[in-house]
Amino acid sequence: MTITKGSVVLFDYTLTDDEKEIIDSSKDGGPLAYLQGEGQIVRGLEKAMEGKKAGDSFKISVTPDEGYGMIDPEKIAVVDADQIEGGDELEEGMQLEASHDEGEQIVVVSKIEGKKVTLDGNHPLAGLNLHFDITIREVREATAEEIEHGHVHGPGGHHH
Ligand code: ZN
Repeated sequence: MTITKGSVVLFDYTLTDDEKEIIDSSKDGGPLAYLQGEGQIVRGLEKAMEGKKAGDSFKISVTPDEGYGMIDPEKIAVVDADQIEGGDELEEGMQLEASHDEGEQIVVVSKIEGKKVTLDGNHPLAGLNLHFDITIREVREATAEEIEHGHVHGPGGHHH
């Protein structure tokens, strides 16, 4: 069967950036499973999956507007280290959980200059072109339970 809305897809991937550096790969965590048509993978990749079948291999490049979005300057803030709990122990690249009016959010410490700390709430892959190398392992119809839950059960998916 070919991939269409409601298909469960199990696939291997390698994700590289414009410099051909590997960002992520299923070699580490095993193949990934998702439900087509639910926005569980980036839009550009989900569109490219439509109509493919088990055994297919292909490459697709996805621009930020169909990937993780552009970098939003409003999600970047410079704050004083004293305002942050454990502010003396911060290092560039650390992830912090920031709470604000709308709830909690993961931010990355992107720069430290003296007492000034830059916090970035953008997705780590925002603004990047994403180059995927994909191999489809398995395509099957979602079960009624998977459709109801909106995610895949079993290998590469949810376990509960
Ligand atoms: Zn479930």
